[in-house]
Amino acid sequence: MKKEYPLPHNDKELGLPVDMRFRTWMNSCVHCGLCSDSCLYYRVMQDDRFIPARKVELVASLYRRHYTFAGRYLPWLTGARDLDDKMLEEMTDLLFGACTMCGRCVVHCSIGVDIPAVVRAGRAMLVQRDLVPATLQSTVDAALKSGNNMAIATEDLLDTLSWMEEELADELGVDHPLIPVDQPGKRVLYTLNPREPMFYPLSIAAMAKIFYAAGEEWTLSTKMYDVTNYAFFTANFDEAATIALRLADEMIRLQASCCVLAECGHGSRAFRWEAPNYLKQHFVFDVETSVERIYRYLKEGKITINPEKTEERYTLHDPCNLVRSGGVIHRQREIIQAITKNFVEMTPCGTDGFCCGGGGGQLAMSEYNERRMKIAQVKADQIKQTGATTVVTPCHNCVDQLVQINSHYRLGVQIKTLAEVVADALLVDTSNGNNV
Ligand code: SF4
Ligand code: SF4
Repeated sequence: MKKEYPLPHNDKELGLPVDMRFRTWMNSCVHCGLCSDSCLYYRVMQDDRFIPARKVELVASLYRRHYTFAGRYLPWLTGARDLDDKMLEEMTDLLFGACTMCGRCVVHCSIGVDIPAVVRAGRAMLVQRDLVPATLQSTVDAALKSGNNMAIATEDLLDTLSWMEEELADELGVDHPLIPVDQPGKRVLYTLNPREPMFYPLSIAAMAKIFYAAGEEWTLSTKMYDVTNYAFFTANFDEAATIALRLADEMIRLQASCCVLAECGHGSRAFRWEAPNYLKQHFVFDVETSVERIYRYLKEGKITINPEKTEERYTLHDPCNLVRSGGVIHRQREIIQAITKNFVEMTPCGTDGFCCGGGGGQLAMSEYNERRMKIAQVKADQIKQTGATTVVTPCHNCVDQLVQINSHYRLGVQIKTLAEVVADALLVDTSNGNNV
């Protein structure tokens, strides 16, 4: 049965968030093609539809039709297009299903068109037509309804935390409370990616061990601990603001002075760098990623890494939102180099690094699984070329995708978060809770 979409009668109904920056991007592309090969989708599948500039053009053709004189009256001359079923299907498939919003194309664009921002504007338009893929929207709905995107019940979270606390107490041979919850007035409120209590509880224990070694005063909140914000990917700015506000309110309620964000690239970006825009306010507390916090402990001598460095070969995967968008580039490298003598970079890496293929909400959209695994070939090849036995990444979203790449492309490597490799290499003085 043919689906009915409300079609716009005027530019306001169209729903593109048009401001001066957006107008500039709509008029800037010089069709040089330099962005093509930067995109995993085009690089692997060699289908012109996946060229970043083509995604921009989809949105720009609508913009021209509704916002320019020539496009309104002479659409055939300007390449302006009407919004119809075919256009909406194409936009949903390409803007949701063929963009990880990694931003690598921006680095290669000859004039700096912010292509993922244009993709996000197109997604925002689709939000208004209820065209967000249901798989992705259900993740946002779970966060809005339950407070975390996996709808984990509080008693299940508490069970997992208590199990991890026992394991850590056994490892360290101490009987202190090691994973404090809901304690007001602590210096740090630490967040979690819900994937941790659900699938990777050892990474919670790893960060708890680091906090213990550093003598940190910290707590988790059982009410609001989810670092993720998938509404950032659906481009529903009201829902993104609601999710961000809950964490900001929890910081105030628990009177913590610094919010330390769990290892999650998009969650870090959505809260630390984007939320003040959604919320139209500056935070009255500090916000730090866990990479920055671990680095600070190391540099201030609050934690000590075993100087008998491992010979094992480590490589690093750069989460796009943390590295390219957030500018947290060098600290994780210094931390890893303190742990192993044998660190090898992927080529390219850092701000020019390739996405793992799981960003932009792709991991949540199962209908695009096949496409997601195809584009992951680039990351699989990069990992193989390093000869590494362990891939470290400070992002649970990337961990999920890398675990799947590891299995799909039979790489035979270990995938670990930064906190996990740091915790493994820590020297801890258990007599007073501080490091050696
Ligand atoms: S943001 Fe990444 S996935 Fe999206 S078009 Fe650009 S390079 Fe491709
Ligand atoms: S690199 Fe920039 S200007 Fe060139 S085609 Fe791509 S989007 Fe357009």
